[in-house]
Amino acid sequence: MQQIVNSSYCYAKSWLNEGEVADYIPELCKVDKDQFGVCITNLVGQTYGSGDFEQKFTVQSICKVILLITALKDVGFDAVFARVGMEPTGDKFNSIIRLETGSGKPLNPMINAGAIAVSSCLKGTNVEEKFEKVLAMANALFGKTDTEYDKSVFLSEQTTGDRNRALAYMMRSGGVFENNVDEILNVYFKSCSILASCKDISHMGAVLANEGRSPTTGKMIVDPFFVKVVLSLMSICGLYDASGEFALRVGICAKSGVGGGILGVVPNRMGIATFAPRLDSKGNSCCGIKAMEYLSQALSLSIF
Ligand code: GLN
Repeated sequence: MQQIVNSSYCYAKSWLNEGEVADYIPELCKVDKDQFGVCITNLVGQTYGSGDFEQKFTVQSICKVILLITALKDVGFDAVFARVGMEPTGDKFNSIIRLETGSGKPLNPMINAGAIAVSSCLKGTNVEEKFEKVLAMANALFGKTDTEYDKSVFLSEQTTGDRNRALAYMMRSGGVFENNVDEILNVYFKSCSILASCKDISHMGAVLANEGRSPTTGKMIVDPFFVKVVLSLMSICGLYDASGEFALRVGICAKSGVGGGILGVVPNRMGIATFAPRLDSKGNSCCGIKAMEYLSQALSLSIF
């Protein structure tokens, strides 16, 4: 397995200079653009990593999976899906158009509008209380106890996040939720700024691959029904408007983030994570997709 992970790293590294680092969040431009890591965690908690697999980065949209699990646990399936849909979208991850032309409810929890709606479901009297729940879930999924968020990235998103603010106000005016917009956005921005390495994220993938049970402690972390919900949404919407092509070429349940990370889950087999900051035009890591493609072929991982 270690050799295959190393080969996926060497293969995908040829695409290291392709794409651009996300610059609409100014703080993300400061990362070392040449970092690249791949990691697999299997269902007995063994880890196989290559390159910068222990380097921490902000999870960005990978937090949408953590937020969804936290909200499902907090308020249940019906309350969450009263505010967000379960259909894929062919639009960009931060698109506003369907909020105007559709029912007003965001299409799914894996796009920005959907994740903001999911954040609005969390119970708690203030941002800290709500974010505490997200961080506790991140710790459990990563198999850690000391997960932190990057304050500079959080502030950078808060200062420049007008598009997300617009999405939130559109949803509030359409009756999706009644919460204070700044409060919801602060929970969402802090969640996007959570720091994790490929090793941590592949552990999270292994928990989901293991029907919700930690591969290292054996503890049940996510209700198996919620695992099904999350994995089906990842497989149809996890890479935004590139989800269809990824399903055909790779066939792994996945979620990407503009920090350059990709979480992959192969049910009953393993969790996979990749990290390389340069992104393609759809906001997905170029090297990461290539590494996933390689691993899928070498290990016959497609779920289809
Ligand atoms: N924090 C980013 C945003 O809200 C997350 C987007 C992403 O990773 N696709 O725009």
